[in-house]
This record gives sequence, C-alpha cells and structure tokens, in this order.
Amino acid sequence: MSQVKELLVDQLQDLLHAEAQLAGALPKMAEAANCPKLKGAFEKHLVETQGQIERLKQIFDQLSEPAEPKPCKAMMGLIAEGQETIEEGDDKDTTSADLALIAAAQRVEHYEISAYGTARALARQLGEYECARLLTQSLGEEESTDAQLTTLANPLLQQLTLDDAGASVNLESVNSGDRIISKPSSARKRKASGA
Ligand code: FE
Ligand code: FE
Ligand code: FE
Repeated sequence: MSQVKELLVDQLQDLLHAEAQLAGALPKMAEAANCPKLKGAFEKHLVETQGQIERLKQIFDQLSEPAEPKPCKAMMGLIAEGQETIEEGDDKDTTSADLALIAAAQRVEHYEISAYGTARALARQLGEYECARLLTQSLGEEESTDAQLTTLANPLLQQLTLDDAGASVNLESVNSGDRIISKPSSARKRKASGA
C-alpha cells in the first residue's frame, strides 16, 4: 500500500470510530436541549451522522480496505466534555445550558471538518475521486451543522444578555424568530440563588 493510501485509511478509520461514537452521543444532546430548534438540529444531525457512517463504509469498499474503526481519542474526549456539559446544564438557566451544548457540539463539528478536509485531500492526491466526492458530501453536512449551530446560538446569546440585564424575555418568541420582548418565559429554571 502506498504511504498516501496508508495515511488515508488511517484517517478514515479514525473518522469511522469518531462518527460511531457521535451517533451514540447525539440523542443525549437532543434530549438535553431546551430550545426545540436546537433539539431538532441535533436530531437532524444524528440522521446525517448515520449516513456518514454508511458513506465511510462505502469509501472503505471503494478502496478495498476493511472498515475497521481505530479508537479516536479526541472524539472520546469531546464526547466526555459534552456529557459533562449535559450534566452541568441541570444547574443552569435553560438558555445558558443550550449555549453550553452548542459550544460542545461546535467543537465536535470543527474536529470533523478538519478530519474530512484532510481525508479528502488525501483521496484527491490518490486520484480516488469517487471517495473524494463522498467525503465532500459529509464535509458539507458538518459545515452546515456548524453554521446552523451559530445561527441558533445568536438569539440565545441575546436572550442571555437580556436575562443578565434583568429583562424578562419570552423564549418562545425568540425561538420563532420574533424578538419582541413580552411575557416572562415559563421555561426558566434558574435556581433561587439570588442571582
Ligand atoms: Fe459527522
Ligand atoms: Fe481522532
Ligand atoms: Fe458532525
């Protein structure tokens, strides 16, 4: 096997393990999310992630290599942090908890974006253009997810700032894209900490 192919297979084995772990973690992220749109984003990305696993298997087939995962320690760490974020969310305001979930999820997406970019460059170098095309599809999904998370974070961040200023904001109206400040949110679960 050429050294470039060896590198590519190594990257793909890491990705396969990373994606499989993520497929196990995303339902927990979705369950923990308070904002319905964030929950929906995690659920949508779970379906995409399952497709990405299938795509990776297709790529291994194309390369006539066994689809053997290699433990991705980085994703294990990122998911462990995500789990911590979920647990810490119980003691946080719903908005704050969601923003922390988004932060954890974007770290994951950036790791994947980096990994798919590298794998695609290696596939192109080998002239494996069908593999490169499949990798581009997954890369696009990771980039879209990252961008969507940023879009979802913006109104939450505004709301948190207003909360900090002591304003009462209706979470539902923010979620629907209508930023009119009205009734206090009933979804708040900030503990009576005097904050
Ligand atoms: Fe992925
Ligand atoms: Fe890794
Ligand atoms: Fe992803």
